[in-house]
Amino acid sequence: MKITVLLTLALLPIGTVYCQQPIQENAVTSQSYDHRIPSDPQEVRESPAAKNIILLIGDGMGLSQISSAFYFKETLPHFARFHNIGLMRTSSTERITDSAAGATAFSAGKKTYNGAIGVDSDTISIPTIVEILSEEMWKTGMISTSSITHATPASFYAHVKSRDMEEEIAAQLSTSQIDFIAGGGLAFFADTSRTDGKDYLQTLKNNGFTIQTEQLLNTVDPNQKYAFLLAKNQMSTVLEGRGDFLPQATKLALNYLSANSDNFFLMAEGSMIDWGGHGNNADFLVSEMIDFDEAIGIALDFAEKDGNTLVIVTADHETGGFTLSAGETYDEINPTFSNGGHSTALVPVAAYGPGSELFRGIYENTEIFHKMMRAVSHSKSN
Ligand code: ZN
Ligand code: MG
Repeated sequence: MKITVLLTLALLPIGTVYCQQPIQENAVTSQSYDHRIPSDPQEVRESPAAKNIILLIGDGMGLSQISSAFYFKETLPHFARFHNIGLMRTSSTERITDSAAGATAFSAGKKTYNGAIGVDSDTISIPTIVEILSEEMWKTGMISTSSITHATPASFYAHVKSRDMEEEIAAQLSTSQIDFIAGGGLAFFADTSRTDGKDYLQTLKNNGFTIQTEQLLNTVDPNQKYAFLLAKNQMSTVLEGRGDFLPQATKLALNYLSANSDNFFLMAEGSMIDWGGHGNNADFLVSEMIDFDEAIGIALDFAEKDGNTLVIVTADHETGGFTLSAGETYDEINPTFSNGGHSTALVPVAAYGPGSELFRGIYENTEIFHKMMRAVSHSKSN
C-alpha cells in the first residue's frame, strides 16, 4: 500500500465525537441553493419482494473514500460487484448532516436536526424500520465498530433527543426487540461504569441475551439472543489490530439471523471511515474502508446464495472533503482533505438483490427508508 500523506494532523483521541462543523469565511448560506429532490410517485418494484435486508453503512464514506479501495486494496473491491447504483443527497434539516440525523433519515424516513436519535424535529419519537419489522416477527441485528450505542446504530432502535445520551440509549437497547448485537459499548451497560450505577447487562440477560465481552463465537444458537460487547467504548482500529471483526461479525450475524426465521434485517456499520476523515488521516481512513469492503463481500456472498436478500451499501455523509489528488507525478496518488468535518457532497448508494432496482436514480436520504419498505412490500412504504 503506497500512500503519501501530507496531512497527518495530531493524533486525535478516538472516541471523541468528531462532528463539529467548522465555519469557513466563504461558507454559502443563501437559501436559493437548496433544492429538495422530489420522490418519484411512479416508482414501482420490478422484482419479487425481498425477504431479508442487509443495510451496510460506511460512516463518512463518500465517492473518494470508495475510490480509495480501488487503488489501495490488494484485490478488486467488492463494490465492483454492484450494478444498481444511485446517488443520494444527505442534508438533514441543516445543509450538512451529522450521523444521528443521517441514520434517522434511513431508519425512519424523516429529516431531523443534527444530534437527533429516532426523533423528529419536535423531538417526538418516530417508529424505525427495526421496530416496524420486529412487530412482524422479523429478526434484527446491529453491528458497529464504534460503541453499539453510538449515533448510527442507535438511530435504528432508540429515541432520544441527543446522541450524547449513550447511557439512556443503552437502556433502550437492552429492552428493544433486537436479537443480535456486536460492537463496542460495554461501559454504557455495566453498573460499574454507568453514572447511575444501574446494571443493564442484567436487563439484557433478563431479556434472553447471552453476553460475550471477549470475542465473537464460532457458532451461535438461533434460539438465543446475543450481545457481543467487545470494548468499553469503541473497538480498536484496524491499524491497532482489530483484525477481521467487522466481516466476521457480519458472517456470524447472517448465520444466526437466517437460521431460524423467514425474514431478517441487519445493519452493519463501518463506523471509523468517518474518524479517519475527521482526523485527516488517510492511512486510518483507507484501512477502515478496506475492512468495510470485506464486510460487503460477506453480505454479497450470502445474498447471491440466498436469492431473497436485498443488500444496500451507502453512507450517511462524506467526511473530510477527501480526495485522491495527484502526487508529484500523475502516477502517484496523494490523498488530501479539505477540512476536518463533514461535507455535503452527494454519496453513492449501491444495491443488490430483489428490490435493488429501486435504488437507482438521485434522491434524498429519507428515501432509503421508503425504498427498503417498498422492497419488502410493506404497507408503510409511503
Ligand atoms: Zn463524523
Ligand atoms: Mg457512525
